[in-house]
Amino acid sequence: MGAFNVIVENLAIVQEKVQQALNNRLNEKFDQTVKLIAVTKNNDIYAMREAIDAGIKVVGENRIQEALDKKKELNRTVEWHLIGHLQTNKVKQAVLNFDLIHSVDSERLAVEINKVANSLNKVQEILVQVNVVNEISKFGLNIEQVNSFIKTISQHENLKVVGLMLIAPYYENPEEARPIFRKLYEQFMEIKNQQILNVEMKWLSMGMTNDYQVAIEEGANIIRVGTGIFGQRKDV
Ligand SMILES: *Cc1c(COP(=O)(O)O)cnc(C)c1O
Repeated sequence: MGAFNVIVENLAIVQEKVQQALNNRLNEKFDQTVKLIAVTKNNDIYAMREAIDAGIKVVGENRIQEALDKKKELNRTVEWHLIGHLQTNKVKQAVLNFDLIHSVDSERLAVEINKVANSLNKVQEILVQVNVVNEISKFGLNIEQVNSFIKTISQHENLKVVGLMLIAPYYENPEEARPIFRKLYEQFMEIKNQQILNVEMKWLSMGMTNDYQVAIEEGANIIRVGTGIFGQRKDV
């Protein structure tokens, strides 16, 4: 009864749809697996535990404080990903607590992450957040700037670029996001093929509840799913 079954059922549906999308992939270069991030923002630790006990290995949060509060109480071992915008004054908590930061979009932020990671003896893995449709999002680098940005920040030894992240605009029909995903995949491959020192283009994080199947078909190997697993959030 209750929430437990809903989360377990939702998760089974998501996994089934991920498999369908993987089967639809036409490009042989694409990875044959996808890392599913359960986006747990605004969901409590009970819901999180249910998802983890049903097989979730990675959780995504967009606010540092919320993540820290939950981390203290959760009592489960998972990978923590920061998917929301990061302010420079919160970098220390981010580096201390997250395995992967998805949202690096400025040199100032990269420099700060490197500095803090150095003082903590960590090499922080990061994704560079890219904005393909310029007007839509406040955050993310222009796609034209990504290449030179990555070359610049690759010189920092305590920071490692491991891929790209995108938040696509919401479209009623997710097919409309397809060209955006395709464009980011092309950019991803272009950077990967340059084999920049200290850069490992491993992850392409794109696709959310509304559009993850299209994203996977276009080469995503990380998807970030919130409502598809936990149901509608009360966003604040
Ligand atoms: C909230 C959020 C998601 C999950 O969105 P859903 O539509 O609920 O799947 C994914 N990525 C980011 C960056 C988010 O902020």
